[in-house]
Amino acid sequence: NDKLQILKNAIKAYPNFPEPGVTFRDIFGVFQNITALRAMKDLIVEHILFLEVDLIVGLDSRGFLFGPMICMELGKPFLPIRKKGKLPGKVVQQKYVLEYGEATFELQSDLITNGTRVLIVDDLLATGGSMSAAVQLLKSVAADVVECLVIIELTSLKGRDKIEVPLHSFLKYD
Ligand code: 5GP
Repeated sequence: NDKLQILKNAIKAYPNFPEPGVTFRDIFGVFQNITALRAMKDLIVEHILFLEVDLIVGLDSRGFLFGPMICMELGKPFLPIRKKGKLPGKVVQQKYVLEYGEATFELQSDLITNGTRVLIVDDLLATGGSMSAAVQLLKSVAADVVECLVIIELTSLKGRDKIEVPLHSFLKYD
């Protein structure tokens, strides 16, 4: 697929960032190349067009780049999941494990009622810690998580095994 190749070419790999042994895949490269950005948007649109969801949820912070793009196609609202302390009003929380230590996600729960059908988006799935915390958080407010969507999946970390709902990725790396 041409569009996948264009997208792939725009994502640079940075060895040993942010620490030795880690290869960082920089999704922002796509936003500096309009052809690649359009290719990515087309791939996303082709994939989501027939999804039946009520709400798009994006993960702090690179998920915010994709959420609104998808919202406008589906005509559905966007809601962020943010790291602790950033969202005003009534929030629900979910702790999750990072490579070193712990973090907490928060979600403003007022927009979600029982059975709200949600699509969760982020740029990349690594260990799956963030995405599985997001799924738990949404389940805790009785949402129906229809799908998790990421641009990149790092397959050797087996993050997919932590996700109890359908997960779609466009590019896979070891
Ligand atoms: P996980 O929780 O699956 O281990 O890590 C995924 C989260 O960390 C995502 O929110 C993603 O933005 C960030 N992340 C981890 N590794 C990378 C990477 O190589 N590139 C980018 N762009 N984000 C990463």
